[in-house]
Amino acid sequence: MPKKKSVFDKYTWIVTELIVGIAALGYGLFGIIKTPTPTNYAYIILVCLGSIGLLVAIIQIIILRKKKVNKFCSKCGEKIKKEDKFCPKCSEKIG
Ligand SMILES: [Zn+2]
Repeated sequence: MPKKKSVFDKYTWIVTELIVGIAALGYGLFGIIKTPTPTNYAYIILVCLGSIGLLVAIIQIIILRKKKVNKFCSKCGEKIKKEDKFCPKCSEKIG
């Protein structure tokens, strides 16, 4: 089942991004609090990278969830693909 595997891989990637993002953000913030020197850019960069990683992961989750939503025909209740303009069962126009 290659379809299921690709979805699993996507989720594995997102989970990895979330964990790495949270870890980078946490470590960076901890470093800034512990050593409050304005020249300590490494922690600021870590916080930025962590935030970007988290943001990307959240966007990917939103995209995945949107893709999963199935449309149904308002007339006969038939499952409709995203690209369909007319219902494959009763030919009702999809708005
Ligand atoms: Zn229909």
